[in-house]
Amino acid sequence: MQYFPLFMQLRNQRVLLVGGGDIATRKARLLSKAGAHLVVVAPAIESELEAIVVATGGEMHRREYQHDDINGVVLVVAATDIAAVNKQVSIDAQARHLPVNVVDSPALCTVITPAIVDRSPLVIAISSGGEAPVLARMVRAKLETLIPASYGRLAALASRFRERVKQTFSSADERRRFWEDTLQGPAAELIFSGRDADAEQLLQARLSASANDTCQGEVYLVGGGPGDPELLTLKALRLMQQAEVVLYDRLVSPEVMELVRRDAERIYVGKRRSEHAVEQTAINQMLVNLAREGKRVLRLKGGDPFIFGRGGEEIELLAENNIPFQVVPGITAASGCAAYAGIPLTHRDYAQSVRFVTGHLKTNNANLSWPELARVDQTLVIYMGLIELEAICAGLIQHGRLPTTPVALIEKGTTREQRVIVSDLANIARRVVAESVSAPTLLIIGEVVKLHRQLSWFAPDAPVID
Ligand code: SAH
Repeated sequence: MQYFPLFMQLRNQRVLLVGGGDIATRKARLLSKAGAHLVVVAPAIESELEAIVVATGGEMHRREYQHDDINGVVLVVAATDIAAVNKQVSIDAQARHLPVNVVDSPALCTVITPAIVDRSPLVIAISSGGEAPVLARMVRAKLETLIPASYGRLAALASRFRERVKQTFSSADERRRFWEDTLQGPAAELIFSGRDADAEQLLQARLSASANDTCQGEVYLVGGGPGDPELLTLKALRLMQQAEVVLYDRLVSPEVMELVRRDAERIYVGKRRSEHAVEQTAINQMLVNLAREGKRVLRLKGGDPFIFGRGGEEIELLAENNIPFQVVPGITAASGCAAYAGIPLTHRDYAQSVRFVTGHLKTNNANLSWPELARVDQTLVIYMGLIELEAICAGLIQHGRLPTTPVALIEKGTTREQRVIVSDLANIARRVVAESVSAPTLLIIGEVVKLHRQLSWFAPDAPVID
């Protein structure tokens, strides 16, 4: 290790900043966040820097740097673009054993500033010892996406309860367990959902209950997207990595399942058409039971849980039983398949609206309004439409859509096995039989399908059967 990492208390401490341009401004912004008393020396000071100094009650000296500027400061930063001045500042500071940082000149520095992820009071500092600052910044970008923005508020909650927790639990082990449960359990989730007051109440209740009170479980109803794991949301990924038990079904791709916490228990509750592996009511009850055992339960569904996913029914029973839950949207098959097949769902010239419908006509026929579905200026997306494809096409033609209306059938959309079969209302059913297609498949019907030729980009080798 070439540098020793250290965090420095700067509140109300004098810090000398030599320089008045862009870089000095950037430094001033950070130093003032830490509460430093800025002493800025430069012949010209740009207006933003001036505003920072004024707002934080610092000092400005509009002149060249002088040796005695260094008197009475605890830290020295040189950020001018004149090498000789930077060097002089460094020499003077080092002669006085003061920590000095010279922007972009590691050789003149005794301290260097890291790339930071700021979730105050939680702050992460990353350094490559000045050797590869771009790499340090890339690591920072990764961490930024991994660590929820609300971690700062979570840390603040922990700080408010620190003393009370110490008083309640005498052993360090008990305290550790309490904090682990709190920082990755329901209280943390309440903070992430913006419900700080509820989080506070929950912690209060846990502290007033007996110290060995078992912690309550919760359920995350999460949309896993259409297949490509990169289409997961950051929130989905975070909850997938903290759940202890996962209920998943057939539509969740193996690549997405790979990202679930390694040691989580996996329960397959897959449903096939007409052959229900586990009845819906049984799934609903399982979620309740597991949460009652104190487990963090992930209910992972393909696409979006609220679009033809029966997500609503699953959380209804949780709500009735007062079990904490949250719902994380996912990219629905329509969005995923359309994007990966190069078919915009709406387009100013071809479709002013888009409609998602289920293709289970037999069950829903009574409510189907064919004239509505056959409107010319809309794109129709049909989920679960493979079995009754022929009847759907016939119905649309009968109610006025032209037999030449373009249709795309997307098989296993967004995965590496994606296939797109493009035809029209009159011919698609026959084409699909010839290609022996397998589930899951999605139908997109409307003029927008024509655009796929121009706009396809995903897996150029994947078959588009046209
Ligand atoms: N909640 C899911 C839909 C569940 S209904 C969502 O929002 O996407 C199941 C239907 O979704 C399948 O019959 C199929 O029509 C469609 N589907 C889901 N994933 C798909 C994929 N990767 N490719 C094509 N169709 C898909």
